[in-house]
Amino acid sequence: MNYEPVIGLEIHAELLTVSKNFCACSANFGQEPNTSVCPVCLGLPGVLPVLNKKAVEYSLRTAVSLDCRIPSRSIFARKNYFYPDMPKDYQISQYEQPLAVCGHLKIMVGGRERDIAIERVHLEEDTGKLFHEIPGSSDSASWIDFNRAGIPLLEIVTEPELRSGKEAKLFMAKLRQILTYIGVCDGNMEEGSLRCDANVSLRRVGEQTLGTKTEVKNVNSFRFLQRALEYEIDRQRKVLEEGGRVVQETRLWDAAAGVTQPMRSKEEAHDYRYFPEPDLVPLVVEESWAAGIKAALPELPDQKRERFVERYQLPDYDAGILTSTRELADYFESCLQFYPQAKTVSNWILGELLRELKGSAAGVGACPVPPQNLAGLLRLIANGVISGKIGKAVFQEMYERGLSAETIIQKRGLTQITDTADLTIIVDRVIADNPEPAAAYRAGSERTFGFLVGQVMKASRGRANPKLTNQILRERLKQK
Ligand code: ADP
Ligand code: ZN
Ligand code: MG
Repeated sequence: MNYEPVIGLEIHAELLTVSKNFCACSANFGQEPNTSVCPVCLGLPGVLPVLNKKAVEYSLRTAVSLDCRIPSRSIFARKNYFYPDMPKDYQISQYEQPLAVCGHLKIMVGGRERDIAIERVHLEEDTGKLFHEIPGSSDSASWIDFNRAGIPLLEIVTEPELRSGKEAKLFMAKLRQILTYIGVCDGNMEEGSLRCDANVSLRRVGEQTLGTKTEVKNVNSFRFLQRALEYEIDRQRKVLEEGGRVVQETRLWDAAAGVTQPMRSKEEAHDYRYFPEPDLVPLVVEESWAAGIKAALPELPDQKRERFVERYQLPDYDAGILTSTRELADYFESCLQFYPQAKTVSNWILGELLRELKGSAAGVGACPVPPQNLAGLLRLIANGVISGKIGKAVFQEMYERGLSAETIIQKRGLTQITDTADLTIIVDRVIADNPEPAAAYRAGSERTFGFLVGQVMKASRGRANPKLTNQILRERLKQK
């Protein structure tokens, strides 16, 4: 029997606001535990929440980037449940009237474009964090840090339109790219500022109704998202093939074991008793506000990629990598201001720079080679001061020591030998030291010529100008 996987994602993104969603506490990551708290975010009696306008603005920025419809009015709701990391015993969220609905996000899957519908985007607040083990301590206590309680959290829910673990991963990667481009979330899945719950079910191919789903939690990387879903799809398929029924439940991904484990069943599921939050008025978003945010959006990844292909005549592959983060795209375009050969600059970024950055385009912001230095190096190569090969070694040193190409070349005496007299001395010595290959060349072996060029390069420590070397070597071999 052929089964088709059906996947819908619920994504949570912590917004990069300065303060929390309903109080003035700092939302900075990594502060001393329980230092960024106040009566509001600790849920003490008699306090009132005040909505953070910036959080709404970031939510709207996300909504317009995802092509959502933004109703003029949305409502905050209390989601009631008890868990020690949530001091109020309810989370302020949105339920029946969310901030945005009916969005879209395009992903490329194996060269084919897929348009994934987004059901809703709503604004809520994060919880505190529980620790059950303190590094270096043998205490068998649990600890709570409330610094994160009340940080604005955006929930993005897709329609069940993803069809494989790989599609889910590509969707998540694309969403992360957009969130970081528009500057609303740092996208750090390991630290939990971007999280994802994956809902998955199977149904027979051709069937329209949805099968019973499970919800997989605790996937904190793209790789794990794909693997957890693939595991879960496999597990459900086996259950169905053996004539069993999938149980509706929440399951936890166990990364170490590579399996999902049951966490709670439908019977144990919470009844959240949602009701409108009486302490907050409805959120009214005037059309002009949303329109202004849309007009001020930065260029999004797909647009930038297309522009790079058209304006700089780059292959789509290059443009895709260069626009993978906004920082890398900006780096590339800054280089072009100093050295306007797009393809050459692209080759160096894709090859040498990303190698040094270990493939992570995110690190380019703190890169020790500023754009003007890379451009300076490329100019020295183009002007024949050093060879391309030496250029690569120079680049590595520029990266390690934060120096300009000129400084390194001067210090190490790496300038190219372009003086005919100097080169002739080296060529003559190589011919004298290699009588047999020289004789073989004269007898017609072209292959030996390459060997002799190599010897000249070696003798000059790579500094001989290649074109001139070829020319002088042929002349001198003819003469003797
Ligand atoms: P719940 O009531 O369990 O929260 P929702 O209907 O709100 O479920 O949907 C939550 C997420 O699960 C959405 O992303 C949705 O697309 C997805 N989803 C819903 N039903 C299914 C299903 N049968 N199989 C796979 N995903 C589903
Ligand atoms: Zn507070
Ligand atoms: Mg739901």
